[in-house]
Amino acid sequence: MLEEDFKFVKPGEVRVRIAPSPTGFLHIGLARTALFNYLFAKKNQGSFILRIEDTDRERSSSQFEEDILENLKWLGIQWSEGPDSLAQNQKYIGDYGPYRQSERLSIYGKYLEKLLNENKAYYCFCSEEELEAQRQYQMSIGQAPRYSGKCTDLPKETIKKYLNEKKPSVIRFRVSPEIKKIQFNDLIRGSLEFDAGLIGDIVLAKNLKTPLYNFAAVIDDFEMKISHIIRGEDHISNTPKQLLIQDALGFPRPEYAHLPLILGSDRSKLSKRHGSTAVSELKKEGYLPEALINFMAFMGWNPGDEREIYSLASLTKEFSLEKIQKGGAVFNIKKLDFLNGFYIRQKSLEKLAESCLFYLIEEDLLTPDLKSEQYPPAYGGFQIIQEYKIPQTGEIISFEKIKKIVSIYQERLKKLSEITKLTDFFFKDKLEYDKELLRWKEMSDEEIKSSLDGLEKILSEIKAGDWSKENLENILLLEAENEGKGGELLWPLRAALSGKTASAGPFEIAEILGKEKTLKRIKEAGKLLI
Ligand code: GLU
Repeated sequence: MLEEDFKFVKPGEVRVRIAPSPTGFLHIGLARTALFNYLFAKKNQGSFILRIEDTDRERSSSQFEEDILENLKWLGIQWSEGPDSLAQNQKYIGDYGPYRQSERLSIYGKYLEKLLNENKAYYCFCSEEELEAQRQYQMSIGQAPRYSGKCTDLPKETIKKYLNEKKPSVIRFRVSPEIKKIQFNDLIRGSLEFDAGLIGDIVLAKNLKTPLYNFAAVIDDFEMKISHIIRGEDHISNTPKQLLIQDALGFPRPEYAHLPLILGSDRSKLSKRHGSTAVSELKKEGYLPEALINFMAFMGWNPGDEREIYSLASLTKEFSLEKIQKGGAVFNIKKLDFLNGFYIRQKSLEKLAESCLFYLIEEDLLTPDLKSEQYPPAYGGFQIIQEYKIPQTGEIISFEKIKKIVSIYQERLKKLSEITKLTDFFFKDKLEYDKELLRWKEMSDEEIKSSLDGLEKILSEIKAGDWSKENLENILLLEAENEGKGGELLWPLRAALSGKTASAGPFEIAEILGKEKTLKRIKEAGKLLI
């Protein structure tokens, strides 16, 4: 490296990057690569760079770029250099920008000209059809398809003529026949060796202004002084090509670490088939960023002992590339649910209820009270208003009460989105269920009816001021004991109040519903039995 290359970077400084192409939403694979790069940078007091590889203008979109940036931020994986704003022509953070490849075309052009001038690259005018026919032929005789070399030594005049005629062309890298083997040391997989003879002359660019991935990535990794390339295993086959280009340009080689693939539960490559894999979808289903971080860390890494709960901060301390496994990492949704449940239980009730509001509003179980000016924005920190309306009953409900409802489900919630199905009966006027739901074991209709009548009588005698979970529990458990009936009393009560086969306990539900609604629901249940 030249001295000036160290203008910003100290020798030995760790600089890592992720280089997504904005051709899809941030998915769990890229998010995991981002996390591992981020952790490695933090652990080594280095820099984590976000570079947008958007040279494929047709497939790239600013909507996908926005999604990648937004969801990385939501996960807490903050880059130290990269695009800073979602708008296309905005500034960036860092000394090596711009960080969007579409804004760096002149840099690639300069290096392409250098390679062409040094005869390390050449214009190739073979048509797609010609190349395809060649490929087919090579395969038919059992050879690995590679470029035949037809245009390697075209006379200068011919090249000039073709270029003037605007004959379609690409710029190819000349792979020297003297190079037999390409070897590098992967920090996860050890020494890897490739047969250079199998690599045909690599297409670097469509023209001076349109570089392709392998070339643009090499230039940027050099220009951005990337020290370690940590990326998915699916890029291993690109590495020898990138090494050849680096060597030809005299660039120092970064270190490489290729992460194991993420597999679905059936051990095939993770895809949509296996459920949501986009971070935005997982977020919408109600997975918390803490849970996703913890979960992703364990897809390929583990501390080597029994511990399985890790925050971003503790991962930063403990992460090391040595503990990354070689074999595929399985995406186990049950594990994610388990972790999410854990982090939901850690949340303050206030914060949990805030997060649940989004789902309750989206399902039309609640609307913000019309008197209020502020509409609660989507999940994620927002201004809470104190009162909401229940559209199905027309009632006003306080945020305090919503918190109470959420509180009785905090223990069993696995995903925030489940809150609507678990608690919808609080927001309904009339419950729809079959009378069989009221039946405990072999009880007859008459017995259920008599239990409900008994409940109605006891409960109507409790003063509104004494209507609390504790009192209800004391009174009803005593009654159950006296009558020698537990399930016969409490099952029909719980079923009548919730309309569900499973729910929180009857006392806590009754407390929240209040005396009047509780009695009304018991009466309605009774009517089903006449
Ligand atoms: N743009 C490439 C991708 O999205 C980057 C691969 C790399 O990290 O070099 O897969």
